[in-house]
Amino acid sequence: MKNIVLMGPPGAGKGTQAKLIIAEHNLPHISTGDMFREAIKNQTPLGKIASQYINDGHLVPDDVTIGLVKERLSMDDCANGYILDGFPRTLVQAEALKKLTEEINRPITAVLNIDAPKDLLVERISGRRVCKTCGAPYHIVNRKPKVEGVCDNCGGELYQRKDDNIDALNTRLDIYNKDTAPILDYYAKEGLLYTFDGTIGAEKLIQEINALLEGK
Ligand code: AMP
Repeated sequence: MKNIVLMGPPGAGKGTQAKLIIAEHNLPHISTGDMFREAIKNQTPLGKIASQYINDGHLVPDDVTIGLVKERLSMDDCANGYILDGFPRTLVQAEALKKLTEEINRPITAVLNIDAPKDLLVERISGRRVCKTCGAPYHIVNRKPKVEGVCDNCGGELYQRKDDNIDALNTRLDIYNKDTAPILDYYAKEGLLYTFDGTIGAEKLIQEINALLEGK
């Protein structure tokens, strides 16, 4: 069973790899960041709570985020596997996730950690552009669309996330090191952790990830 958690600092390539894994294995992609951005766009009560935290690069409170993930993982489309991207981000979330996935009989089978040095993360995030419609990722230097500002896949408009500026990014990286990185030890002890080099390029990386997932 492929009940997968994708981990790594902002800019490591989680979103890109998640999309490639989905294309190969047909699993639902559960990105808490995407769920929050959708809620903000639709101005739902959840969006109103989340927006200020997100724009400043802070974490949305654990109880809100855990409730959201519990509801999503319980849905029918997660019965045959799922990819969690951007959750858990704190030890409290990791422990809650263990409990809730065991309760619904969908326990995590692998944690894929993508690692990359800070200078590369800063370069990737500060040049990142995202499609407003389908979420496809681009970069102003490394992955340009065919037509500037327009998504190759769906023709949607490309934009820069509000939290992809240097101040919010520094906050996100500090929070990652302080709150999120300790979860890696937790998963190593559980025997679930597989770490990948995020500097080798998306195509090579997905080959390595697929090789591991074949046995899962
Ligand atoms: P991401 O798209 O994964 O980079 O997430 C964007 C932002 O959404 C984060 O910087 C947080 O503000 C919020 N967020 C996403 N996932 C979580 C989480 N698991 N816990 C708390 N906040 C989150």
